Amino acid sequence: MITVNGLTKRYARTTAVDHISFEVQRGQIVGFLGPNGAGKTTTMRMLTCFLTPTGGTATVAGFDILEQPLEVKKRIGYLPETPPVYPEMRIGEYLSFVGQIKGLSGANLRSRVDYACERCAVADVRNKIIGKLSKGYRQRVGLAQAIIHNPDVLILDEPTAGLDPKQINETRDLIKSLAGDHTIILSTHILPEVSQTCERVIIINRGKIVATDSVSNLQQRASSGESVLVEVAGRGGSLDASAVQRKLEQIAGVSRVLAKADGQKRVIFEVEAAKGRAVRGDVARAVVESGWDLNELRPTALSLEEIFLQLTGSEAHAEIEAVAAGGGNQ
Ligand code: ADP
Repeated sequence: MITVNGLTKRYARTTAVDHISFEVQRGQIVGFLGPNGAGKTTTMRMLTCFLTPTGGTATVAGFDILEQPLEVKKRIGYLPETPPVYPEMRIGEYLSFVGQIKGLSGANLRSRVDYACERCAVADVRNKIIGKLSKGYRQRVGLAQAIIHNPDVLILDEPTAGLDPKQINETRDLIKSLAGDHTIILSTHILPEVSQTCERVIIINRGKIVATDSVSNLQQRASSGESVLVEVAGRGGSLDASAVQRKLEQIAGVSRVLAKADGQKRVIFEVEAAKGRAVRGDVARAVVESGWDLNELRPTALSLEEIFLQLTGSEAHAEIEAVAAGGGNQ
């Protein structure tokens, strides 16, 4: 449904988007994740034909963004970071106005306005002035204008930014419910957004794609060989946890051993390996050869947050901390 090929945007001094390529299949919901300034908005503005690329190209629903921008625009619903609403208009009026700009008229226009109001849960307030709505409702109106012409693709720039937790949940549910009918790309600099809403993630940093995968694969990929959970039990009785810990620490390639649970008869440790070292086999051997039972040995799944940090480095870390402290640029 979307194919991006070497897309690039240079400003005078900055390369905001640097030769990015990716594909999005029909009906997928994809998270475009990256710290502020990574190039997300610039990419979205190019895909929606609001900005001309410096290089590369993309197709949306089979139409080229450079050659056939009008066809592309017909097939895209776009929700920019700040919803393009007119505060002095009533919701119904505004949606009708947007529908007309998108080429709808007559009974079709009326039924699409009804549908969008219903779908985005603003039907009961459609006669209200937009300027008097809460931010959460305004965002719903923003989504309603994006779907009014029933586009194949929805491009949503930071759709939950600035909302309170309840509004965030409602907006996420709404976006997920739209995924059946539309292919969706949403951008975010907040990690839970992706793991809770999307099937796939494209991570962008400094204009370059640093990872693209399904959310679950990415978690697995980044964790392999890095960290394992091991449960050890004493044969027929008590167990000396510190003896197990010492044994695990002596294994070549092991960088850290953390006690996770410490019982009379069994202990659980998290064993971290030095980067690039696979230690699972040695851990299993060490436990069994010491006369203990190996109850469980499995990779520890990294949170998407850890993966994001591994891929994008300390800069993103500072960003996440700022967000966690409530100081992020929402
Ligand atoms: P994101 O959406 O991921 O926060 P943006 O796409 O807004 O990132 O910005 C990417 C980079 O391009 C940033 O370094 C930003 O400062 C720069 N940039 C964006 N728009 C312009 C512009 N109109 N002129 C110059 N630089 C810009």
